[in-house]
Amino acid sequence: MTDISSCFDPILRKNIKNKKQVAIIPIGSIEQHGPHLPISTDSDIVTEVAKRISLKKKFLLLPTISYGASFEHAPFFNLSIKESTIRKLLSDLCESLLSNGIKTIFVINGHHGNQKAIKNLDSKLRKLSKNKLKVFPLSYWHFMKREFDHAGFVETSLMLAISKNVKMNVAKRGLITDKMTKKEISKIGKLAEKSFPKVTKNGIWGDPTKATKKEGEKILDEIVENLSKMCQTCLTEHRS
Ligand SMILES: [Zn+2]
Repeated sequence: MTDISSCFDPILRKNIKNKKQVAIIPIGSIEQHGPHLPISTDSDIVTEVAKRISLKKKFLLLPTISYGASFEHAPFFNLSIKESTIRKLLSDLCESLLSNGIKTIFVINGHHGNQKAIKNLDSKLRKLSKNKLKVFPLSYWHFMKREFDHAGFVETSLMLAISKNVKMNVAKRGLITDKMTKKEISKIGKLAEKSFPKVTKNGIWGDPTKATKKEGEKILDEIVENLSKMCQTCLTEHRS
């Protein structure tokens, strides 16, 4: 098993000693996802993605950091920590992994608002550790063909594939961008970073009403496949 929280110290230390280990830290958020998805949605999805990758690649899976920076969802419900806190938390964890002999770490992100916080984490930690640490921050939705949404078709389908905690009977259409140009979408996306409810009205970006478990399984497979390949590329290119 690669889930670090279920490991026992003697075996874990032996494994770390015997083999060059790679760790994976998932980070999500606690924030509103409309009336049909739980507030843990981002953390649930990123946990599943990270779990599948760690099984496939035999990486050590760390417990998910379930909080993120979701201030943009106020006054809808969100439990947020500052970007500086996220950076500090991840830096401390990576340094602690290094002191246990684990030098390569993938930070897998499941929430849009965490992107800025994890952006330059790799170069900062490389400097701090005198080139010992190799950290790769990756956001999972960059590894699927479909446009990412918020509690819309994609996220709701993904949740149907991994969770029973979805209430399809109360799912409502939110902001629909189908007829907008790329420029318009990007402009509205910037506004959403400041106030998500202002832009979407009901806190949903997209249309969840036609989401299916089958589609969610397909998207999940695609993400795990592409993200695993990216992890391999990172490992190969930065081998030293
Ligand atoms: Zn989400």
